[in-house]
Amino acid sequence: MNAARERVIVAGGGPVGLMTALGLAHAGVPVLLIEQEPALTIDLRAGSYHPPTLEAMAPYGITDRMMETGIKVRHWQIRDRKNPEWIANWDLGLIADLTPYPYRFHLEQHKLTPIIFDFLRREPLAEVQFRARFVDVAQTGEGVRVTYERDGVMEVADGAYLVGADGGRSNVRKAIDMPFEGFTWDERFMVISTSFDFQTIGYAKNAYIADPDQWVTLFQMPGDGSPYWRIVIPTDIDVPEEVIAAPAAVQAWLQNFAPRSEPYDVLYNSFYRVHQRVARNFRSGRVLLAGDSAHLNNPLGAFGLNSGIQDAANLIPKLAAVWHGTAPESLLDVYDRQRHTATVEHVQANSIANKKTMELRDPELRRAHFEELVRTANTPELARRYLINSSMIAAVQRAAEVA
Ligand SMILES: Cc1cc2nc3c(=O)[nH]c(=O)nc-3n(C[C@H](O)[C@H](O)[C@H](O)COP(=O)(O)OP(=O)(O)OC[C@H]3O[C@@H](n4cnc5c(N)ncnc54)[C@H](O)[C@@H]3O)c2cc1C
Repeated sequence: MNAARERVIVAGGGPVGLMTALGLAHAGVPVLLIEQEPALTIDLRAGSYHPPTLEAMAPYGITDRMMETGIKVRHWQIRDRKNPEWIANWDLGLIADLTPYPYRFHLEQHKLTPIIFDFLRREPLAEVQFRARFVDVAQTGEGVRVTYERDGVMEVADGAYLVGADGGRSNVRKAIDMPFEGFTWDERFMVISTSFDFQTIGYAKNAYIADPDQWVTLFQMPGDGSPYWRIVIPTDIDVPEEVIAAPAAVQAWLQNFAPRSEPYDVLYNSFYRVHQRVARNFRSGRVLLAGDSAHLNNPLGAFGLNSGIQDAANLIPKLAAVWHGTAPESLLDVYDRQRHTATVEHVQANSIANKKTMELRDPELRRAHFEELVRTANTPELARRYLINSSMIAAVQRAAEVA
């Protein structure tokens, strides 16, 4: 087989790698996906999808399958923790003419990956290897040679291209010496989950609650049969996790946030650090980066996984066309420019701005911000513009403008 006609190798079997492999195989490109874990990972991470992401996954049947168990969130809120009257209520029905999916959609990431995997394994051109850890890549003019460790044994695979979708600590990104520019926030974020239904006390299924001392985000998630709520808060990096996460401390935090006569049931809690980083380029020769390997952002706005799937959706037709010989390789630079621009101008800018406004301390600035936000939410043309931006439609449109 001519090297240029060889398969594409995808490193990483998270949502972005799976989606990329599925799309390429579907487009007639043979793919080998290598995932270091013995099976799909089941960690509690992303869970909120925006309309363009649902649109990108729909042609493969993924979105319909998600609809069987997820939660549609047409209305969401931005509120203030100290002034309960400051509430901006957003209605995605205002953009129903722009998308078949005028809502945010909640489904745990670990329920998305088996759906994509189920479609992927039916693709005759796709091969998936678990316990296969990417180690290194060498590029020749005609292809890539990937070294990976499988069950403790070093193996080599040749391919036409390599897509690094191996997450935030990406070894592919390191192997090509790609700078990962940006910064890490000082706080550590804590996730708490409880079955208490915050809708009973006025919260929307998705609410962002601003507070200069400690903002809060709420997401209702489908769970297994009965919904539960995921709460994310920033915590002090100098206080040990075991102190913050002690059962009595978590209970006290919940009672302080929303006092009740009964104790809260706490289903789980976990911590994570948050970064704002973007790879300098998403392409280096025959190696492409997508998803968290190319960019990381804070969760305010739910852009991380969404933008990764949008990378895959952008890359698939371009890489398929180049692989089939119907487009020049320079089309891969367009992928780099388009997704880099959308990442920097939208995902990074909006997630950083969201965090800063959630934390506004100056009382006058906070009041002015909320008054403007409530006015925007209550004025259909302004709300529509806001929603086009916050639902990532603007980010995808911006990418498409870049030549
Ligand atoms: C707590 C939390 C909450 C989040 N909430 C949201 C949200 O609400 N909305 C949102 O859009 N985003 C959210 N995110 C971000 C989202 O989870 C990520 O953006 C998403 O997982 C990125 O997908 P990915 O496929 O690029 O990377 P990953 O999901 O990290 O997948 C990478 C895969 O590569 C594998 N891998 C790693 N190294 C190698 C190697 N050397 N060889 C082979 N395989 C390898 C890993 O095992 C993994 O399976 C959240 C993240 C966290 C941590």
